[in-house]
Amino acid sequence: MSSIQSPRGGSGNNDKLLSRVALLNSHLSTCPSPPPPPPPSPLPTTTTTMASEKEAALAAAATPSDAPTIFDKIIKKEIPSTIVYEDDKVLAFRDINPQAPTHILIIPKVKDGLTGLSKAEERHCEILGYLLYTAKLVAKQEGLDDGFRIVINDGPKGCQSVYHIHVHLLGGRQMTWPAG
Ligand code: 5GP
Repeated sequence: MSSIQSPRGGSGNNDKLLSRVALLNSHLSTCPSPPPPPPPSPLPTTTTTMASEKEAALAAAATPSDAPTIFDKIIKKEIPSTIVYEDDKVLAFRDINPQAPTHILIIPKVKDGLTGLSKAEERHCEILGYLLYTAKLVAKQEGLDDGFRIVINDGPKGCQSVYHIHVHLLGGRQMTWPAG
């Protein structure tokens, strides 16, 4: 049976342990408390958007995750999109529901089982790196010289709604942290 070991070495080590706990406590007490919740009504637009994103994510999670998605049609040019970059491996196009002045999705042309980041295997390392490198190229092309944000949503709790891995490139406004 395993048990929690007490620190060896007698009272000297215990004193050290106690002083580290005291230091940790003093640090925690200096962390700002979370802001009070906003008044309940009226609901801001962003809350509505967040709710619909969550609904879309939950609805998408209910479908077979390796099924073809809307992105396959975009790759095949069966539906229109505003393409900003394309080569033999990846496609970058503007998000239909932009969350920032610049909002671009970068996707692999061949999904190869990569419905989301959580499905990544070692063979995907090259394309994963290439997606990020493309994001950097597109950010430069879009003039996002002061910074940008990269997002990869994964699964229902990550609010993923399209199960074909994609990198969001967001820019053109000041981002905040933590992300919602
Ligand atoms: P996710 O929520 O899965 O991380 O991101 C999927 C993104 O795809 C969303 O931001 C959504 O707006 C975008 N999207 C969904 N359908 C289309 C479409 O038909 N065209 C384009 N350009 N973007 C789409």
